[in-house]
Amino acid sequence: QAKDRGRGRCVLFEPHMDETLKERRLMEKEMRRALERNEFFLRYQPIVTGDGSRIVGAEALIRWRHPKRGEILPAAFLPIAEGTDLMWSIGAWVLRSALKDALSWPELTIAVNVSPSQIRHPDFVPNVSRLLEELGFPASRLELEITEAAVMDHTDAVKSKLDELHDLGVRIALDDFGTGYSSLSYLRQFQFDKFKIDRSFVMNLEHEAESAAIVEALVNLADALGMAVTAEGIEAREQHDFLKEIGCEFLQGFYFGKPMLAGELGQRVLAGEGPSRLIAKG
Ligand code: C2E
Ligand code: MG
Ligand code: MG
Ligand code: MG
Repeated sequence: QAKDRGRGRCVLFEPHMDETLKERRLMEKEMRRALERNEFFLRYQPIVTGDGSRIVGAEALIRWRHPKRGEILPAAFLPIAEGTDLMWSIGAWVLRSALKDALSWPELTIAVNVSPSQIRHPDFVPNVSRLLEELGFPASRLELEITEAAVMDHTDAVKSKLDELHDLGVRIALDDFGTGYSSLSYLRQFQFDKFKIDRSFVMNLEHEAESAAIVEALVNLADALGMAVTAEGIEAREQHDFLKEIGCEFLQGFYFGKPMLAGELGQRVLAGEGPSRLIAKG
């Protein structure tokens, strides 16, 4: 009982909280309907080489085409789904859809975000493995992006799942690196193949010596640990120049491409922005 926890803590009874709860329920109902009516779709954001010349991968990012509200970003609905069975259903839909789309881009690595509750679901690893088999999708071309929140609790259980995925050949990336509490210790405990330097460090690096120093140190850290590294959120040429200079392996940001529809990514890959161009040129 909220009341038992003492005065000032009876927040559950505030009228606006009540409203929020109602909104949540409504939203959950709408999300269930959205799954049935196919209102979710994926955008893909290119991931390019450090020199910016080739697309080597893409990150799948979910969107909701709401009948009344138009295109909605994940921040507005995924937190409500997280921790409910909805997140499992949505996550499974994302994984299947991304892998199916990525069959058309045989040279790209496809990055798929996985939420904390998704990875803790007992069927998570079997589901990934079944999907890869069913679609004939090479495990090495799938990269699962997880955040620190996913490994924070139930650490041992999550670790063994990540090890299983690793054994399948799936790659694991630690997303939003640097924003959490103890990211460095997670690098030691888990076998991540890659970390992604959070956008907040990249955003101001041309104006802030501290951000630039942190980004450079993180790129060196990846190198020292033998890990791959992607810098996220590059929007300006100066940021790219710096990242190229320090030898950051992979880059992602509006500067190279906003999240786009599958067809558009396919066209860009075909137009020679993919690895095939270099291969063809020798
Ligand atoms: P994330 O995984 O860190 O994805 C990168 C986010 O940064 C995306 O936002 C992307 O649009 C945005 N971004 C990329 N480059 C730039 C840039 O240059 N400037 C700016 N301002 N933003 C940039 P989005 O698509 O809104 O997704 C937000 C977060 O929602 C993702 O962060 C991820 O944590 C989560 N998410 C998205 N799709 C999925 C999904 O299918 N499943 C799960 N579990 N989470 C997802
Ligand atoms: Mg991500
Ligand atoms: Mg990120
Ligand atoms: Mg993020």
